[in-house]
Amino acid sequence: MKDMKEKINALTKQILSRFEGYDIDPSEISKRLKLLIYEFKVPEDEAVRTVINYLIKQYDISREEIFAPESPIKNIADLKKSGEWVSLKAKVVQLWDSDSPNVSQVGLLGDSTGLIKFVIWRKSNKPNVEEGRSYIFKNVVTDSFRDRMQVNINRNSEIIEIDEDIELPPREMEIVGVLVAIQQNSGYIKRCKTCGRVLKKGICTVHGKVEGYDDLRIKGVIDNGVSYYEIILNEENIKKLTGIGVEEAKKIVEESLEREAVLSELSSKLLGRYFRLVGSRGNRYFIVREVEFLSVDVKEEAEKILSMIEDIEVE
Ligand SMILES: [Zn+2]
Repeated sequence: MKDMKEKINALTKQILSRFEGYDIDPSEISKRLKLLIYEFKVPEDEAVRTVINYLIKQYDISREEIFAPESPIKNIADLKKSGEWVSLKAKVVQLWDSDSPNVSQVGLLGDSTGLIKFVIWRKSNKPNVEEGRSYIFKNVVTDSFRDRMQVNINRNSEIIEIDEDIELPPREMEIVGVLVAIQQNSGYIKRCKTCGRVLKKGICTVHGKVEGYDDLRIKGVIDNGVSYYEIILNEENIKKLTGIGVEEAKKIVEESLEREAVLSELSSKLLGRYFRLVGSRGNRYFIVREVEFLSVDVKEEAEKILSMIEDIEVE
């Protein structure tokens, strides 16, 4: 009887320590623990987990606050070294079959920055994760296998399901459309040497008046007939499309004595043209990875449309 009381007290203290700063009645915890362990014969650690879950719900506390990981939560894209202890907030994107008896589960985890392979070792004795669900993977170790990063879930790790749908990296997509507008601050621009921001009249909004360096960019709008996409073409994209890079832009300015001449030259080469762009959709801008001119055969397009009209008339 004395043992039982001591055990319940110790477990109650252990649970209370997780809820520092919350006004929780210890007797409420003890009562539940007693019931679970001695009445319902639930294993101790499961009883602790059940009570914690109950309190989280009851007091409307965020799970992450209670299960604050000791290893910092990192973005998947930032995992580059082996042997690092980290925590991940990620979604199980895919589970694979494993032919190793030492592996309990293997698959892919994802967060908004990327995807990574994960391995849950059988020895870690962890409950199974499910595809499409999000978890905090606390205290996992990075590893690299055949030059690819992965994370290993071992005995010291913890897997906590969270009630949140983790967003995955934007999928790459292709758009085909016309460049219908070129926005302000496009063309032959100057950027701050420290932060890369575009200077306005030689002034960086963060670093004030700075010298800056030359760059080329086009902020534009692509219309694909269904919606509009704001895009940014960098110097490399622009040079590939027009043959005008920073060096060529400099020459144009030297000849015309006008910085603006570069933008008019670029506009005449790019505006109203069809493009095929491959990239991903960010918050505001479509992030261009590849861009090329698309030659639309006007005669062929017209014939296509005509034949469509004829088909309609036949019906
Ligand atoms: Zn700056």
